[in-house]
Amino acid sequence: MAFGKPTGPGADASDVKAREIVVFLVRRDSRCGECGRELLSGNFLRMEDDKPLCLDCADLGHLEYLPSGDAAITRRATKHSPLRAVVVQWSRTRKRYERQGILVSPEAIERAEQESLADADCRARQRERAAVKRDAEDQDYIAAVVARLKALFPGCSSQEAGQIAHHACRKYSGRVGRPGI
Ligand SMILES: [Zn+2]
Repeated sequence: MAFGKPTGPGADASDVKAREIVVFLVRRDSRCGECGRELLSGNFLRMEDDKPLCLDCADLGHLEYLPSGDAAITRRATKHSPLRAVVVQWSRTRKRYERQGILVSPEAIERAEQESLADADCRARQRERAAVKRDAEDQDYIAAVVARLKALFPGCSSQEAGQIAHHACRKYSGRVGRPGI
């Protein structure tokens, strides 16, 4: 991003909503206009009155960076954080500012992660319950087939009937050929 341009980088970030707090990922080393701290590539800065500020001077120092990538965590962290800033970086190839992530309170990130974990747990338990139910259904089905086979073919041993029924069950549930099931 080019500092000293009359417009300033903030004016170019037209794809970001006007009311949002926008923070820029530093690409070219700069210096905080207030405390003089060096702002190195990879740091964050906020433009205020065309003056680059470090996060502390912009009163955003207590926020933590959450990179984009997990939409659910981003959404939840946004919901839980009292303050949020959008982190953007200039893309040379696309010639526009691109969102890299957000700055939110550490507590919000923690809460978002816990909620997502709880969700994953919940989904795993649902899958487990579904598998148990499917197994029970399979067992019922096998028992019914064994009974029917033995009624139709009195000479058929329980073992043979069981093997046939198991095979029929795998075919029936579409799980033929998958080892370990
Ligand atoms: Zn500063």
